[in-house]
Amino acid sequence: MHQVQLAGLTVDTRHAIGGERLASAETFDSISPIDGSILAHVSRGGAAEVDAAVQAARAAFPAWRDLGPEGRGELLHRLADLVEANLEPLANLETLDNGSLLRSHLRGVMPRVAMNIRFFADWAMNRLHHEVWQTRGHDNNVSWDPSGVAALITPWNAPLMLATWKIGPALAAGDTVVLKPAEWTPLTASVFADLANEAGIPAGVFNVVQGFGAEAGAALVAHPGIARISFTGSVPTAKAIARAAADNLTPVSFELGGKSPLIVADDADLDLAVGLAVEQYDNAGQVCLSGTRLLVHEAVAERFAEAFAARAAALRQGDPREEETQIGPQIHRVHLDRVDGFVQRARESGARIAFGGGPNEELGGLYYRPTLVVDAAPDSEILTAEVFGPVLAMQTFSTDEEAVELANGTEFGLAAVVVCGDRARAERLTKNLVAGTIWVNCFFVRDLAAPFGGSKKSGIGREGGTWSFDFYADVKNTVYAPTGWKE
Ligand code: NAD
Repeated sequence: MHQVQLAGLTVDTRHAIGGERLASAETFDSISPIDGSILAHVSRGGAAEVDAAVQAARAAFPAWRDLGPEGRGELLHRLADLVEANLEPLANLETLDNGSLLRSHLRGVMPRVAMNIRFFADWAMNRLHHEVWQTRGHDNNVSWDPSGVAALITPWNAPLMLATWKIGPALAAGDTVVLKPAEWTPLTASVFADLANEAGIPAGVFNVVQGFGAEAGAALVAHPGIARISFTGSVPTAKAIARAAADNLTPVSFELGGKSPLIVADDADLDLAVGLAVEQYDNAGQVCLSGTRLLVHEAVAERFAEAFAARAAALRQGDPREEETQIGPQIHRVHLDRVDGFVQRARESGARIAFGGGPNEELGGLYYRPTLVVDAAPDSEILTAEVFGPVLAMQTFSTDEEAVELANGTEFGLAAVVVCGDRARAERLTKNLVAGTIWVNCFFVRDLAAPFGGSKKSGIGREGGTWSFDFYADVKNTVYAPTGWKE
C-alpha cells in the first residue's frame, strides 16, 4: 500500500526519517505530465513529520561529523556507484514524474546526479584547504567544520539533479540533511533515500519529508533546529523563506529565477546564434538559466529571425520517452495555464506572436508550442517576468551599450549568453553585464568547481567547489602563536 512499482523500481510513498519509513494520514497525488495518469499517492507531511526528521538529523549529526571527509567520502562514493547502477530506472522514473526527455535524463542528468555526490566528496577530501599563512609569526589555520542540519528545498524542473547539487556538498561537509522535494515531483528523492540506506549512510543522516511548500516546506525553514537553508525555486517563495529564516537567523543560499538575455552581435556566427537560441527551448523552456530574451543587432535581426523560425518549426514535440522528441510537455495543468496566460496577455497588449502562441492541439495534454513574441512594448511583462515555459521574446538593438542596457533591464541576474565574432568586443560586452554566469558563444557549459548563483533577485550567495563548503560548513580560523609551547 505504501509502495508502487514504477519504471522497474519499488518506490516508497512515505517519508524517509531516521532510516525508517513513516506515513502521514493524508496523501497527495503525483501525476505524470505525459498522460495525466496518477503515479502514486504520496504522504503529505507537515510540522510533525518535519520535526521528527530534524530531530533524527540532529541525533545523527555528531557521528557523521566525526567520520571526517575520508569516512564520509567512502560512503558517498558507494552512494554514487548505486546511482550509476540504477541509472536507467532512475531516468525512466524521473521522466514519468516530470516529463523531461528520457534521453537527457539517461545521458546528462542522472550521470550528473552521481557526479554531484562524487565530486563534492572528493573536493572535501582533496581540495578543501587554504595555505597556512602567518601574521606576525602566528599561523592562521582555516577549517571547514560541519555546521549541523541542512534544510534543502528543491523545485520540479530537474528534481534529483538539483537536489543532489545540494545533498552532495552538504553531506560531504559533514552536515546531516532534511530534503523537501517539490510536490509535483516527489518520487526520485524517495528512491534516493533507499539508495543512501543501501550505501551504508547511517540512519538519520539523510531524510526526506514529502509534502506541499506551505505545509512541510514552511515548517522546515522555520524550524529552530536547522543550521542552513539551501533553496532553489521562485522569488516569491524565497521571500517567504527569508522571512521565516530571519526569526532564527538561519543562513540561506538561494538559487532563484531568471529572465536571461541572449545577445546576438552583428558580427556573430549566425548559424551558431540560431542554434543557441533554439537550445533555449530545452526542457520545454522549464530551465532557470534559459536565455529567454533574444537581443539581436538590428543589422542581422531579419536574417536571424527567419533562420530561427525555420529551426524552431523543425523541433519535434511529443512523448518525452521517444528518442526523436526534442520538446516534451509542461509539468502540470496549473503551470501550462500560467505560461499561456503570459502569452495571451502579451498578445492583448499589442505584441505579435511570430510563431507558436498556444497549446499544441494535435498532441493535446500539456504540450505547449515553442513560441516567439516580438514587438512587445518596452518594460512589458513578457520582457521582464519569468515565464518558465517555451516562450522567448525578441528585441533589437543598434549599439553594444544599448544591448547591455537592455540585458540588465530586469530585476533578475542569473545568466547571460553572448554570441559575438570578436573576443575583445565580447570582453567589453560581458564586463558590465550583471549575471552569475555568462556564456560566450556557448550555453550550459557547467563545471561543478565553478561558482554558481544569481545576482539581483536571481539569488543570494554562490555554490560550487569551495563556495559550497563556505555555505554548508562553519568556516573557522584557528590562530597558533609562536610562543607558549613547552618543549
Ligand atoms: P517554487 O518556489 O514554487 O517551489 C520550489 C520549492 O519550494 C518546492 O519544493 C515548494 O514546495 C517549496 N515551497 C513553496 N512554498 C514554500 C514555503 N512557503 N516555504 C518553504 N518551501 C516552500 O518554485 P517551482 O515552481 O518549483 O520552480 C520553478 C522556479 O525555480 C523558477 O523560478 C526557476 O527559475 C527556479 N529555478 C532556479 C534554479 C537556479 O539554479 N537558479 C534552478 C531551477 C529552478
